[in-house]
Amino acid sequence: MHKNYKFIFFDLDKTLWDFDKNSEETLKEIFKNHNLNNYFKNFNTFYSTYNTINEKLWGKYAKLEITKKELKTERFYMTLKAVGISDLKLSETINIEYINESPKKKSVFPNTYELLEYLTNKYKLAIITNGFKEIQFEKLKNCELDKYFTKVICPEDSGFQKPNKKMFQYSLSSLNAKKEHSIMIGDDLNVDIIGASNFGIDTIYFNPKSIITNKPSYEVNYLLEITKVL
Ligand SMILES: [Mg+2]
Repeated sequence: MHKNYKFIFFDLDKTLWDFDKNSEETLKEIFKNHNLNNYFKNFNTFYSTYNTINEKLWGKYAKLEITKKELKTERFYMTLKAVGISDLKLSETINIEYINESPKKKSVFPNTYELLEYLTNKYKLAIITNGFKEIQFEKLKNCELDKYFTKVICPEDSGFQKPNKKMFQYSLSSLNAKKEHSIMIGDDLNVDIIGASNFGIDTIYFNPKSIITNKPSYEVNYLLEITKVL
């Protein structure tokens, strides 16, 4: 069953770095600092409005319908607009705060460090992420995760995003990794797992919410389960 893997490619957000928890914490601070309760019924209304808009914009960004800059400008502008506030200046201020503060948050999924300690002696590890380069590097540094990874590959490097095969091709090439020696670990079925699988490498689906699927080569619900495969 064990293949001759040499290169482990990880997704970052929602696989190792607990994006939802860190993002929610940052948005709570923003909500308080800017008295957004004047506009929104409560934090949860603000949070769910923002998430819905942000997800839609990320979808457009993935399809190259909008730029990174447009995504950043629009997400808070549209959130405020949803409650009748047209305030470009406030939305820009909030966006800057979000970008500055959220990468400082340090919540990772349970056993992230144990897993990486275990893997780092046996394999070359790299990150393949669709996130913004400057932000992903800061997250890794702040959580002291950077030392585990030989490379961090972002769309700004490759010119492509997961699930595009060219993103995986670029990532493997940059490490001189062969497909048969490589495996991708991620939480997003369409982006990480089906993407990598279509490209032709094995996958481990990190599935903490136990969503039912039959797509990946392997599936784990806890990070440390990966040590049974690798
Ligand atoms: Mg992810």
